[in-house]
Amino acid sequence: MHAPIDFKLTASDGEARTGIIKTRRSIIETPVFMPVGTQGTVKGVRFEWLEDELDARIILGNTYHLFLRPGVDVIRKLGGLHKFSSWTRSILTDSGGYQVFSLAQMRKLTEDGVEFRSHIDGSKCFLSPEISMDIQAALDSEIVMAFDECPPGDAGHDATRKSLDLTVRWARRSKESFEKTQQSEGFNSETGRKNQADALALNGRQALFGIIQGAGHLDLRSESLERTVEIGFDGYAIGGLSVGEEKNVMYGVLEHTAPKMPKDKPRYLMGVGTPEDLLEAISQGVDMFDCVLPTRNGRTGGAFTSLGKINIRNARFIEDAGPLDPECSCSVCGRYSRAYLRHLYQAGEMAAPILISHHNLAFYLNTMRAAREAITRGSYDEFKNSFLEKLRENQDSGV
Ligand SMILES: [Zn+2]
Repeated sequence: MHAPIDFKLTASDGEARTGIIKTRRSIIETPVFMPVGTQGTVKGVRFEWLEDELDARIILGNTYHLFLRPGVDVIRKLGGLHKFSSWTRSILTDSGGYQVFSLAQMRKLTEDGVEFRSHIDGSKCFLSPEISMDIQAALDSEIVMAFDECPPGDAGHDATRKSLDLTVRWARRSKESFEKTQQSEGFNSETGRKNQADALALNGRQALFGIIQGAGHLDLRSESLERTVEIGFDGYAIGGLSVGEEKNVMYGVLEHTAPKMPKDKPRYLMGVGTPEDLLEAISQGVDMFDCVLPTRNGRTGGAFTSLGKINIRNARFIEDAGPLDPECSCSVCGRYSRAYLRHLYQAGEMAAPILISHHNLAFYLNTMRAAREAITRGSYDEFKNSFLEKLRENQDSGV
């Protein structure tokens, strides 16, 4: 029987690798950055730009946010997140677990799941592996994430071990429940999508990824990896990084964990990070990334450039006629000056965060393109080192 997604490695250089993920909706070259579409939209960036200029092949949707608003019944009635939002390429949905632990109030964790109060209106809600699978089936994303518990970055060994055991039990329940949704949700019913899946030799169903936890404890990371792989998933993610731990702890976990993950399945690092973090993770063999930084920083005037991060509010840009990034080929850099963008920002014009977010996404996606080319050429280390050196040159302090 065909699989829900197809993953093939195309080149490798040390641990770094390039590949192609085929889903029923798009062909994704890896390493890939997935813009975050929390509420069914990538903040400030129209789908037309994401498709035509930025050429993002996959975006992320947040189960927790969409579950609370507009609610899963609305999205189900409107035919899933693709139809509702009009995004036709791939979507990866997270399980909602991470947001429950980072945003919701009055959490009560039990074996069954987690009870919490909505951060929007205080109403009582409940999420479990089964409910998360049901919501993600209704959202109709291409890649579904198992429901996990994410302990804080500085969690001790005992607390992490307890959390990991629960995450493994939830992973098993996620998979069992997921398999039921794949039989009952009327998959393959949409003719166009079925034809596309057939053409790609895919089965038209969703794919399910498992999540490796273990905070900063390498022995627990190994155990989590082993037990998650034993359950068996279409891809594997490293969760619980960039949640308050030191950078060297994160890099240590990546170096320890990523190369041991199954070689023939996509490897996804969740919620990380800066361009530097992405390049380091690629050198350990990670294939997929998502992070709110490009759009979140864009909204506060922060721009990622090939010469480091800058903040457009800085007075040194008042009369600067140059582009945000002299090496960027995006339409914002091709047209607007730093002085103009700074003026828009200071005047409170909505165009400022929109334009800077657009450039930031272009920078992330172009960096992934350059990384793929370097891996293919067999010169990833040289590429990474010269890229990182330039980033540090002109970085504004405190942005
Ligand atoms: Zn640009």
